[in-house]
Amino acid sequence: MLIVIADDMEKEVVDALAKLGKITYKPANLKAALKDADALVVRSATKVTGELLGSAPKLRLVARAGVGLDNVDVAACEAKGIGVVNTPAASSNAVAELAIGLILSAFRNIAKAHHQMKGGLWEKKALIGREIEGKTLGIIGYGRIGSLVGRKANALGMTVIAYSPQPHRGDEVAEFVDDFDTLLARSDVVSIHSALTESTKNILNRETIAKMKDGAFVINTARGGIIDEDALYEACKSGKLAGAALDVYSTEPYRGKLLELDNVCLTPHLGASTKEAQARIGKELVEILKAELKK
Ligand code: NAD
Repeated sequence: MLIVIADDMEKEVVDALAKLGKITYKPANLKAALKDADALVVRSATKVTGELLGSAPKLRLVARAGVGLDNVDVAACEAKGIGVVNTPAASSNAVAELAIGLILSAFRNIAKAHHQMKGGLWEKKALIGREIEGKTLGIIGYGRIGSLVGRKANALGMTVIAYSPQPHRGDEVAEFVDDFDTLLARSDVVSIHSALTESTKNILNRETIAKMKDGAFVINTARGGIIDEDALYEACKSGKLAGAALDVYSTEPYRGKLLELDNVCLTPHLGASTKEAQARIGKELVEILKAELKK
């Protein structure tokens, strides 16, 4: 069994995978390395295209360490009978905690205050924040991550409402609303946790942002492209929205004009970037590969 690991991977994961078969780690010539490979392991850097698969006649499995499959041509894999797997649950808690952090940062101006102090300012009076207790959090997409955010926010005293066509059913604390406009009108902060699909692309745009409460916040730790960034810029600049906090962007690395606004807090796609999530991704990956390659 030959497993080719194309992208950076923690040593523990490489060691664990080495127990399943022979490993080729980050080969200089990926196409050549794939000639005899049974499995290809990637993160987000390697693009698994139909052309690349043409160099891998024995490949049975493509494993993506992480959530999105944006870098894998799933249809081309299916056409060749190659299985595609990922580790969707491993980073959920990490993303949920980041979303809660961004909500608190937005309400209490933490990022803005930090930035000002680094610039030598002590603008205490201009940084009066708001408390999250008793406020309404509107969650778009109540799946693995959305439901975790709901539980954590509720534990902090927030009222949670959710708009989600097929919600994850567990010990949820959310009130589900059938109508998207109701979610917009009632929420003091809207947090996005759906996938980027045809139905969610630019779901927050000029028209829908106009239906939000004046002075509300927007948080996006899901995927860029779910918010129209130009519309968000205008709403944060005009004061329609009190601010926004984003971890994901329509183009990454993000270099756009939201960087100009001090009521917008931006992180560089850090959702899954915790030691714990990376360890869980590795563990989940090894288990999945073990099961899949046995088939
Ligand atoms: P999930 O599939 O468990 O949940 C998504 C939810 O969105 C589902 O309940 C689904 O029914 C709902 N949904 C689908 N269409 C919708 C619509 N039109 N309107 C509202 N809801 C809709 O996914 P998850 O694991 O919770 O991941 C959520 C998001 O977080 C994904 O976009 C994922 O890519 C992203 N993510 C980001 C990071 C990061 O680093 N920032 C890391 C992991 C995941």
